[in-house]
Amino acid sequence: MTDAVDAAPAAVCFDLDDTLYDYHQYARAGLREVADRLEARTGESYHDELLALYFDESVTEGTFDRLVDRHGLAPDGDEDAVVDDLVEAYHGATDPLDPYPAAERVLSRFADRYELGLITDGHGGRAKLRRLGVEGYFDVVVVGPERDSSKHQREVFDAALAELAGSADETVYIGDDPRVDVRIPKQLGMTTVRLRRGRYSHLEPDDGDEPDAEIDDLCALTAILE
Ligand SMILES: [Mg+2]
Repeated sequence: MTDAVDAAPAAVCFDLDDTLYDYHQYARAGLREVADRLEARTGESYHDELLALYFDESVTEGTFDRLVDRHGLAPDGDEDAVVDDLVEAYHGATDPLDPYPAAERVLSRFADRYELGLITDGHGGRAKLRRLGVEGYFDVVVVGPERDSSKHQREVFDAALAELAGSADETVYIGDDPRVDVRIPKQLGMTTVRLRRGRYSHLEPDDGDEPDAEIDDLCALTAILE
């Protein structure tokens, strides 16, 4: 594993959700914001039910549709408008978020040695970076939804590479989701590292999605890169 990088890279590029912090924190804060908004509107508390839906019943997609439907929370029939409003509340939470314990250590160490990039498909990527207090470490930040793009397209990786020092083969990319964080960066010539942590840690890679190296803690990056 530790010989995955032959020479010192020029740039290191990170995914955000579940790579630099635990996404469940973001979900918890967002769900609280949603329940607060619903309570202000209806006088009912849906806090426990929302958390149970998301975390216990694993309804992580369409969570708000389910709740709105279950309780008839769209009295004028426009469920989409109510759900859109709740999605906006979810992403509008402003509570500070904690990076993984190793993340700040690794970022501050690497910021002195390499150019650092961040590529995320998450909504409000820049707001998340501010909530995490780590935005200052990155030379380049590429947020897919801002460009109507995603990590399913090479465009977001190209955009980061265009601004980072060095070529693709001098760049290391680290992400947690084997479905989007390996194939394209690898095809472009980047060295790929999978952090096996968070929501997708149980996923085994499809053919072609095997990373050059796999770690279970960001601390291990230092050994791989240096
Ligand atoms: Mg991720």
